[in-house]
Amino acid sequence: MLRAAPSGAFFMRGPALTEPDMVIDATRPYDENNVFARILRGELPCRKVHEDEHVLAFHDINPMAPVHILVIPKGAYVSWDDFSERGSEAEIAALVRAVGKIARDQGLVAPGYRLLANVGLAGGQEVPHLHVHIFGGGPLGPMLARR
Ligand code: 5GP
Repeated sequence: MLRAAPSGAFFMRGPALTEPDMVIDATRPYDENNVFARILRGELPCRKVHEDEHVLAFHDINPMAPVHILVIPKGAYVSWDDFSERGSEAEIAALVRAVGKIARDQGLVAPGYRLLANVGLAGGQEVPHLHVHIFGGGPLGPMLARR
């Protein structure tokens, strides 16, 4: 799935809006059976990178960059919108701290990295449990695919 451009930059997948069946409506209630809820319950495996009281982080199953890690709150939040509205100060601080620590631990600060949180339909969010993508390990290409 990783695609290298002639320049050596790694491109993201095409615009999610071309795959309308896969994206979720972030205004819907939390789905307890989403894949990340199942990972959190230990029903599905993951390649864990970090865990603390409020946060779990693991490698993306379908990496789009040499380093592609997902950081999720342990609480049941659909999206960034939901989390920023209902998350406790401790949960929000833990997620932000964890993202920064994981990037540092992965050696991504000096070469640089990218964070992404897709929200809902236009954002192309596919899994209805908040996740922050950490991308790194090489040139990441343009911020968004140009239309
Ligand atoms: P979104 O498009 O919702 O921002 O990103 C969802 C991400 O979750 C995708 O990058 C996809 O590869 C990843 N993903 C989906 N299912 C699984 C899974 O079962 N395990 C892991 N580790 N990643 C998953």
